[in-house]
Amino acid sequence: MLKSIKGAVVTAGKSSGAFRLIADSGWRQSRLLILGYHGVSLEDEHEWDGALYLSPAKFRSRMEAIKRHRCTVLPLQEALELLRLRQLPPRAVVLTFDDGTYDFYKTVCPILNEYGYPATVYLTTYWMTLQLPVVPGTWSYMLWKKRNSVIDASSLLDQAVTFDLRTPAGRSVALQQMRDRADSQNLTGEQRDAMSRQLADLLGFDYQEFRSKRIIQLLRPDEVKAVASSSISVELHTHHHCTAKDREGYLRELQENRRQINAILGSNPIHFCYPSGNHKPEHVSWLREAGVVSATTCDPGIVSRSTNPLLLPRLIDTSSLSDIAFEGWLAGFGALLPHRARRRHE
Ligand SMILES: [Zn+2]
Repeated sequence: MLKSIKGAVVTAGKSSGAFRLIADSGWRQSRLLILGYHGVSLEDEHEWDGALYLSPAKFRSRMEAIKRHRCTVLPLQEALELLRLRQLPPRAVVLTFDDGTYDFYKTVCPILNEYGYPATVYLTTYWMTLQLPVVPGTWSYMLWKKRNSVIDASSLLDQAVTFDLRTPAGRSVALQQMRDRADSQNLTGEQRDAMSRQLADLLGFDYQEFRSKRIIQLLRPDEVKAVASSSISVELHTHHHCTAKDREGYLRELQENRRQINAILGSNPIHFCYPSGNHKPEHVSWLREAGVVSATTCDPGIVSRSTNPLLLPRLIDTSSLSDIAFEGWLAGFGALLPHRARRRHE
């Protein structure tokens, strides 16, 4: 209901010229829109999870809309500095990409270069060091690929169990059972990858081929080096893509993540993105303690000078966001409408 009302308001906003008025206003010029992306499909990932992946055509159309609406795309660091100095250009936008999946190198970077847009990649490093398909995303993807199957998963879970993959609910139960088993036994990444192979065997899924396509895999260190430049900054997203409950664990995750990035690039990353958008009040002081100067959430909104730099809202762009709603956000109009906070499932 809220969605359809909002859709009508956005359409009316565009046709009445309100978009243009807001886009050209001093209000918008004193604000920064941070866009959040995860990945752009190498194959059919957007059909599996349209919240995490956009098709290349959709992603390109977004970049084109940014150009058409005369937005200025800035590097994150510069944008925050100009915001502080009250010197933002009209319709300022920052592009961010979470996790650092291979498609950033393969598909996203060439498109960004074409448009001359800078961007920030929040790199999570554990699965990068393993150079294996990321779990549990890989499990979820395989279960979806074989969505017409009902399989006996007893050998996988060491108990009599059937996976009915014909419905989203059935796939969700299967995924949760696999996660529970891996977590309860505290399995390492390699052991979780062994479960991926086992699942692939049961499903009749060609795991070798999947691996060679680099779907749901992170950048390799040499690719991180290749993408990093004056216009692409590589920043923090924790080592294990997790939210530790205690201060020590939280700081350890940041430190290891930073150490890994520093070992590749020799840089000292100071910008952070909350994994899966999870943030609590105590995280802000822990981040400050770790020398982090900005942190992005998945809470929808537009940044102003009064925004806490360690709680920066973003528009998480998804396959289901309509073109007109996206344009509404570029104008600043979208930020004026009510929104539910969202959590990413990664
Ligand atoms: Zn993430």
